[in-house]
Amino acid sequence: MAQPADQDSNRDVRFVCDAMLGGLARWLRAAGYSAEFDVHFSDGEIVSKAFAEGTILLTSDSGIMQRYAVSRGLASAIFVPLGLSVIGQLAHVLAVLSLPLRQSRCMDCNGELRQVPLEEVADRVPKKVRLLCKAFFVCERCGKLLWHGTHWSSIRRRLGRAQRMAASASNRKHTGLERT
Ligand SMILES: [Zn+2]
Repeated sequence: MAQPADQDSNRDVRFVCDAMLGGLARWLRAAGYSAEFDVHFSDGEIVSKAFAEGTILLTSDSGIMQRYAVSRGLASAIFVPLGLSVIGQLAHVLAVLSLPLRQSRCMDCNGELRQVPLEEVADRVPKKVRLLCKAFFVCERCGKLLWHGTHWSSIRRRLGRAQRMAASASNRKHTGLERT
């Protein structure tokens, strides 16, 4: 059976998602985990990446699970069941690895977010937002500016839902690596 990374070193947990799981990659980033996704990655490339870089491969493709490096446990992989909502997929991964929510990363590019004082970005922030929001973040990779507003609250609510679903799945002992 393929094994996930050491569950005691969550800070090093990084993912690479297959071509079907781009939405999950975005939500893993929101949950604070590095998740690589590129629709151009071939099946062979993502297996090689998982093997060479120690990332955990997430796939809904049973063919990928049966590839040599995965089936022999040389590359870590988790099968994400088909038919789940993206929040259900996230809950599944959180439950399998017992992962907590962390400081969000950029959902667009996987970059780390750095909190910045308003003065540093004031010229990029609409006046109304300047009055209402207190926390501002810049993506270290793509430069995108984010703030804790209503969109952020909606993201945190959905993350909280995934966390509760994961806790509930753990309680029902539905965790563990799934294989086809
Ligand atoms: Zn970014």
